[in-house]
Amino acid sequence: MELYVHIPFCIKKCAYCDFASYPGRSDAFPGYIDALMQEADTRIRELGSIAPETLYIGGGTPSILPLPLMEKLLEGLALRFPMHGCLERTMEVNPGTVTPDFLRMIRDGGINRISMGMQAKQAHLLSMLGRIHDWDTVKRTADAIHEIGFLHLNLDLMFGLPGQTREDWRETLQAALSLSPDHLSCYGLIPEEGTPLKTALDKGTLALPDEETERAMYDDALMMLSEAGFAQYEISNFARSGCLCRHNLGYWCQIPYLGLGCSAASMLPGDGVECIYYRETNPSDLDAYLQMMREKAFQKRDVDRIGPRDAMFETMMLGLRMTHGVSESYFYHMHGTSLASVFGEVLCEEEKRGLVTHKDGWWYLTRRGMDIQNTVLVDLMESMEKWNAGPSGQQK
Ligand code: SF4
Repeated sequence: MELYVHIPFCIKKCAYCDFASYPGRSDAFPGYIDALMQEADTRIRELGSIAPETLYIGGGTPSILPLPLMEKLLEGLALRFPMHGCLERTMEVNPGTVTPDFLRMIRDGGINRISMGMQAKQAHLLSMLGRIHDWDTVKRTADAIHEIGFLHLNLDLMFGLPGQTREDWRETLQAALSLSPDHLSCYGLIPEEGTPLKTALDKGTLALPDEETERAMYDDALMMLSEAGFAQYEISNFARSGCLCRHNLGYWCQIPYLGLGCSAASMLPGDGVECIYYRETNPSDLDAYLQMMREKAFQKRDVDRIGPRDAMFETMMLGLRMTHGVSESYFYHMHGTSLASVFGEVLCEEEKRGLVTHKDGWWYLTRRGMDIQNTVLVDLMESMEKWNAGPSGQQK
């Protein structure tokens, strides 16, 4: 089981952000930490003792919590969850939001990996994104993280931004590499409905680079990061040897996880027959979450039961994100049926089109397949529906 803890507070809302993150709510900090502890206790009562294999404290900006509250959170988690087998413990921080004392305290509290949102190097792009920092702040924060002795640092970067040139992107990659991370996440911008960035794009006051430029930026990342000794292991993720993010690998390999906090999702084992696992999602509104915890009204969680058919599709959808893809034996072990019987025909067709390939019992996307991953997934979904209906059209 993996453990995720969501801290939904930020200094300011970024222009592209549709995560559950609330600026200006420091009034809610203490009550929120209490609610997290209460939720942890409730979950342990429901599920029994949970010894997490990984811990990820994300947000939001967890690093804006005052030091005593962060200390209380880490101590509270350590009291409730046996952490001896939890080898990877990540915390997200934003540049300029941590002091050396804060970093020392979280290191002593067991955090051994930091993930920092750098996004871009250029001041005009950071300002367009509504970020709170500049490049100097990123550099100072990374230096402090190394000085305090963290061995593992991830940087989040964004490409395909309005006004971003290939030169900007290459300069961002170089700048990120100069900070000695051992992991980089490179995300293509997805303009989300309801964000100021999407509104500006719809109005035409901002414009995205064309598809060809965006693809070239992705290729720049593949080439530059490979030359710098990073291996790509997922569509957006690159790591030095031995530094893959176990927590995220767990999501893509369908390892169960428990999520605590506002908007956090959990994936918990089902009966193994009609419900392979179920996904529960807490309210994404901060006050609704706090109220749910106050009233113990856990029925307010959204519950999604994942049956065998959907679980098989998720194995493909998540597995194909990883460069090593989906293993035929893993699929059989998960679902008790062969991958070939469900998806064999469509995978062979996609292979002829140059979108997927296979080797030694593993199916994975080609470079071209990564560009149009959604097309591959739609074909897989249709194929599974045909398989599910069977030759006579009856449900299996
Ligand atoms: S720092 Fe992250 S979570 Fe906070 S507003 Fe910006 S993108 Fe959203």
